[in-house]
Amino acid sequence: MTDTLRIIPLGGVGEVGKNITLLEVAGEILVIDCGLAFPEPEMLGIDLVIPDVSYLAENKDRVRAILLTHGHEDHTGALPYVLPHLPGIPIFASRLTIGLVTGKLKEHKLLEATPLRTVEAGMAFSIGSSSVTPFRVNHSIPDGVGFAIQTPLGTVVHTGDFKFDMTPPDGRRADLGLIAEIGNRGVDFLLSDSTRAERDGYTLSERTVGESLTQLIGEAPSRVIVATFASNIGRVQQVIDAAAAFEKKMVVLGRSMEQNTAIALELGYLDNRGGTLVKRDQLQRLPKEETVIMTTGSQGEPMSGLTRSSRGTR
Ligand SMILES: [Zn+2]
Repeated sequence: MTDTLRIIPLGGVGEVGKNITLLEVAGEILVIDCGLAFPEPEMLGIDLVIPDVSYLAENKDRVRAILLTHGHEDHTGALPYVLPHLPGIPIFASRLTIGLVTGKLKEHKLLEATPLRTVEAGMAFSIGSSSVTPFRVNHSIPDGVGFAIQTPLGTVVHTGDFKFDMTPPDGRRADLGLIAEIGNRGVDFLLSDSTRAERDGYTLSERTVGESLTQLIGEAPSRVIVATFASNIGRVQQVIDAAAAFEKKMVVLGRSMEQNTAIALELGYLDNRGGTLVKRDQLQRLPKEETVIMTTGSQGEPMSGLTRSSRGTR
C-alpha cells in the first residue's frame, strides 16, 4: 500500500465539468479541485450535477487537503455538497479563488468549519508527506494555478485548466520559468487539461477576444446582452473595458455573477473603470443604447440569468 501512488479521477475525465481528482500516496489523500457540472437537457428536474464522493467519505480520515486550481464552478462548485463529508479539511488556493470560495461557503454556512489557506504561486508548502508548489497559468479567470506535487514516490504535476497567453488581460503571464524548472527537476506523472489541446497551433490571446468585444459593443445600435459563466471574471473585465471605451454603463445580473463580481472588485481583481459598472436599479433610467448587461446562461442553463430573463422571471 505504502509503495503505491494512486491517481483517481472522480469526475472531469472525458466530460466537461465535475472536475475532481484524488492523489493517494503514503496513506494520505489529496483532493485536487471539486467541481460540478450543469445538467444535460434530458436531466429533467436536476439543477446541478455533482461527483460521487462516497470513496472520499469512506476514507475521510486519510484526506489531508483540498487543492483548488482556479475559481470556475466546474472546479469549485461541488464544495458545498462535498465539504459536509470532510469536516475540518483545509482548502488551499490562490487569493481570488479563496475569495470566491468564501462567498460560496458563507452562503452554505460552511465557512467556520472549513480552514482556508491562501497560497502564492512559486511558494512551496507541505501537506503531510508531500511538498506542493503552485505555479501560475493563464485562463479565463485570474489567479489560476497548476500544482507540482512532490510525493515520496515521485512528482505529479496537475496543470489545472490553462493556456499560455503572452498578452493576458491582467498582465500576469503563466510562469514559464518556474514550469521549466519543475520540468528540469523531473516529472513522473503529468495531468494536463487544456480545451482543444488536440488541435495544432496556438490559441489566440484573450486580448483578441477583448478587441472583438469592443468592436461589437461599440457598433451595437441598442442594448447589448453578454452571456458567460458566473465565474468568468476575466470576461467581465473585458466587457467593462469595452463598455467604458464608449462611455456605456454596465450591469451584472444573476445572483452568483453579482456575488463573484463584488468579491473580485473588493479584492482588486476587477477594475471598474470610473464607475462603468452600476447597480441594476439604475438600468431603467439609462437609454438602452448606452447599456450593456452581463449575465449567466451562455449554454442555456435552465436556472441561469439569461434563461430567467427570457421568461420574465427572476
Ligand atoms: Zn476553468
